[in-house]
Amino acid sequence: MYVISSVVETSKQMNMKNINILQLVRPNIENLAPYSTARDECKMQIGSFLDANENPINNGYNRYPDPRQAELKGLISRIKGMPVKNIFVGNGSDEAIDLCFRVFCRPGVDNAISIMPTYGMYKVAADINDVSMREVALGENFALPVQELLDACDANTKLMFVCSPNNPTGNAFPISQILTLAQKFDGMLVVDEAYIDFSSEGSMLPYIKEYPNLIVLQTLSKAYGLAALRLGLAFADEVTMALFANVKYPYNVSLAAMEKAMSLLKRDVAAEVENVMVERARMEKALAELPRVRKVWPSDANFLLVEVDDARGLYSELLDKQVIVRDRSKVPGCAGCLRITIGTKDENDNVLAVVGGLRPESIV
Ligand code: PMP
Repeated sequence: MYVISSVVETSKQMNMKNINILQLVRPNIENLAPYSTARDECKMQIGSFLDANENPINNGYNRYPDPRQAELKGLISRIKGMPVKNIFVGNGSDEAIDLCFRVFCRPGVDNAISIMPTYGMYKVAADINDVSMREVALGENFALPVQELLDACDANTKLMFVCSPNNPTGNAFPISQILTLAQKFDGMLVVDEAYIDFSSEGSMLPYIKEYPNLIVLQTLSKAYGLAALRLGLAFADEVTMALFANVKYPYNVSLAAMEKAMSLLKRDVAAEVENVMVERARMEKALAELPRVRKVWPSDANFLLVEVDDARGLYSELLDKQVIVRDRSKVPGCAGCLRITIGTKDENDNVLAVVGGLRPESIV
């Protein structure tokens, strides 16, 4: 449990954007008396845990996990170069997306803004929280519509979602343009960097010090290869992180997930990411040469958005060969497009064979 007012005092710094986050927070959340455990409240060394109605027989998992995830956050802090007080760990980044709405948006009153097309969960989370989502179409070649996003705001706009690199278009937006939004938007700017490790554009993490209205989402599901563990990350000013900690379910991350992540984060992820980027370049070139392919959009992510002659037909042909991709052809701005994740070399060769119209026998 965090006392929000004391966190506000300690976070006042000279060169920050001058914005009072608490004015954006739902009043019931600002005044929340969060759930607190006996272990939270007691700082002494304890030998006998009789406070939480657990089974006393040790099997490694009979005790509730650390609700602050101190050990895992310590490791993430070292990997990302961010202080622990600026980190939230959740059950996938989808938990962090939902928390943005629950902390900042009054249901039926406030609204949020996102680019379009983009990751579908922002709109789903908005709908679940009864918050209207204003979707602003990307510009030509999927450019960030900076002025249109700002023009779509009103006094009740609390959140703006910018996914960079964007799903499903694959492009990253220039940091200078995202910074313009952080400067000019007087609500919370949520920058989803789920695919940032595959991008040549830098992360927004260093700007959290300057912009208290900036929330950066990342995840261990993509480059770090831990999608099954459900570990999403949010980074923000400590006031926002304290609010997230107060609103989240107390034990939102299991001990099994934390332990497994601690061990798997020791491996060489950089080599895996590099391999994806090499394969992405190969696929981009090879697909572009195939007659059914109209356009391969440049990608800063671990997938390619590919415009083809008959998207639904090709989708079915791939499925016949037990290859599933994402049909995005009905998504506004993505007519005729399939979104294809970069797989192993063999998997990618299979895709090339099907798209290239080779006979099944010649497919690996
Ligand atoms: N953000 C984006 C842009 C995504 O594409 C995805 C998953 N496809 C997520 C977040 C969700 O990540 P997580 O597994 O951490 O919930």
